[in-house]
Amino acid sequence: MTDQPPTAPHAEHVVDTSPTGAEITSTECPQCGAQVAGLNGRYACGICGWVNHWSQGHGDLPTAEQDPDYPGPDAPRPTALRRRRS
Ligand SMILES: [Zn+2]
Repeated sequence: MTDQPPTAPHAEHVVDTSPTGAEITSTECPQCGAQVAGLNGRYACGICGWVNHWSQGHGDLPTAEQDPDYPGPDAPRPTALRRRRS
């Protein structure tokens, strides 16, 4: 009964089990108290609309170069959609 291992000092450590490093995490919404699930510490509450700041995530966001669809530094910039005239 008392043979339980001591509690790890870093209880908030997230074990990386995903090849992409993406982990489903959850927290309590500070605005309405609902349980909110998110990805790597980034949350959006579906009940009250609260979102946390992107910088509060557990890791850095990927850069454009890390996007599998990244067209390269010399790719033409996307053009703005033209407004239709009626
Ligand atoms: Zn909420």
